Amino acid sequence: MTEINKLKIYPLPAFRDNYIWIIHTTVHAVIVDPGDAAPVIDYLESHHLQPIAILITHHHSDHTGGNLQLLERYNLPVYGPLQEKIPTVTHPVREGDRIQLTPLALTFDVLEIPGHTRGHIAYFTATQLRNMLFCGDTLFACGCGRIFEGTPQQMYDSLQKLASLPDDTLVYCTHEYTLGNISFARVAEPGNDELRKLEQQAKKMRQQHLPTLPTDMATEKACNPFLRCQHLEIIHAAEQFTGEKLIDPVEVFTALRKWKNVF
Ligand SMILES: [Zn+2]
Repeated sequence: MTEINKLKIYPLPAFRDNYIWIIHTTVHAVIVDPGDAAPVIDYLESHHLQPIAILITHHHSDHTGGNLQLLERYNLPVYGPLQEKIPTVTHPVREGDRIQLTPLALTFDVLEIPGHTRGHIAYFTATQLRNMLFCGDTLFACGCGRIFEGTPQQMYDSLQKLASLPDDTLVYCTHEYTLGNISFARVAEPGNDELRKLEQQAKKMRQQHLPTLPTDMATEKACNPFLRCQHLEIIHAAEQFTGEKLIDPVEVFTALRKWKNVF
């Protein structure tokens, strides 16, 4: 859990390795990607919290499956991508839209980041203390989501767009995939010392059953192979996987993603 000023950002575990993020004060809460309603209701009730909104990043059921049950219990706006048909979304949003969550003193900017799904969006906010990004299944700690609906070029552009956010941005992704991602990254870039340090840290946290998230953009730029497609060691590793010369970073990215799918 992170605490920023009076806000707590709590990773509620769901299913096998999902996190439902609850952003809350001592009174109000915003729920990000509630795939399951039961743990959310438990958390809200045990902390005496009043939910004020749901934010949805994309249509997959492990991110939206709890909406209906939460809406039966609470009267809430549900923000979600305009480009995807999600029946429980009451407020479809697109790139450039701003969401004011006055009780939490937060304003989120909507970023369109297609690739994992066609209409995937992220929510970015700059608080007085830290920038925060809720990016669903697009950027993971040391990895990225699978490309189900978009093209590799779209996913590459989306990741570059996120990487252009400030270095101190805290990144709240929705799966605990970090150790597996690091194992792949170590093979793709064995000479990266930062990555080695990150692996030790992440192992220690998982041994204590702690989440490895949030990560931050500086760490991702230093360690995440999918953001480092112009680095020679990674280019060479990707070329070894495909057996072909790779000319531009999108080709390197495409090869890395294919390689990770079978890793
Ligand atoms: Zn997904």
